[in-house]
Amino acid sequence: MNSTLKAGLHPRNRFNTRYDFPQLIACSPALAAFVKPNAYGDDSIDYADPLAVKALNQALLKQTYGLNHWDIPPGYLCPPIPGRSDYIHHLADLIAQRRGPSVRVLDIGTGANCIYPLIGASEYGWSFVGAEVDPAALRWAKKIVAANPSVAGLIDCRLQKSATQCFHGIIQPGEHFDLTLCNPPFHGSAAAAAEGTQRKLRNLGGKTVGLNFGGKANELWCEGGELGFIRRMIEESAVFAGQCGWFTTLVSKSEHLPRLEQALRRVKAATIKVIDMAQGQKKSRILAWSFATPELRHPA
Ligand code: SAH
Repeated sequence: MNSTLKAGLHPRNRFNTRYDFPQLIACSPALAAFVKPNAYGDDSIDYADPLAVKALNQALLKQTYGLNHWDIPPGYLCPPIPGRSDYIHHLADLIAQRRGPSVRVLDIGTGANCIYPLIGASEYGWSFVGAEVDPAALRWAKKIVAANPSVAGLIDCRLQKSATQCFHGIIQPGEHFDLTLCNPPFHGSAAAAAEGTQRKLRNLGGKTVGLNFGGKANELWCEGGELGFIRRMIEESAVFAGQCGWFTTLVSKSEHLPRLEQALRRVKAATIKVIDMAQGQKKSRILAWSFATPELRHPA
């Protein structure tokens, strides 16, 4: 049963088989309280319960990467680890699977959970700058990093002072990154973010009381929604063209792609790629672009 592959995940994704709950509980006993048989009689957790997902994440990060200290403040986004992990492996493919701390990656909106730097540093030994606009989330991310010795020297968290900027104020003069990544806030208003939260809960069969399904409304929205955020990022990326090998971002709505590709042509990106991702029924995609020639993207 545990060898059943989860459809669509990257071949190197370590979370692409069914979870072995007894083993996970042995590693992280607090998970036991949340595991019960599902409709098919298999061990499972209630994925609509952020506390259960948090306990699962703690067990997965501990068992897989030896990250013994991971937590999120109440109400903050609780990331599904398999999907986040997929983005990291696709990024590795973009840079020919280079490893080690000389590979420098910038995570825009690292969140309180700091999940991409934790996975990227653990899987590939990359070093990260995590940029975050919410000071409370940033403090939390720094605390997680400091508490986990295997990654503490690899991750630097920096405050972005302007919600409408991604790279200005973060990338320093003369600094170079091989990759930038981003899981953008995707709603256009706080109200839409709250409604999205309710919808997600209903789809999972959960209760709709309380506005926080793993994600504060203000964590999930920005002026102009996903399209506005990424268009601003594209425009700004042209200014930092010489300092980043690849710029990338998740795009949750495929209908946004034509306008984003148009924006990329306007700023004269040399290469544009759309990398499809899937986890079961859930489809997503990475938009990647570069201003550099292949030789410049991989400095010796
Ligand atoms: N990377 C985490 C969090 C994603 S939520 C995950 O995948 O789970 C999006 C995050 O972006 C939020 O924490 C929000 O505060 C942050 N954010 C929004 N605008 C930003 C900006 N301009 N620069 C940096 N972070 C930003």
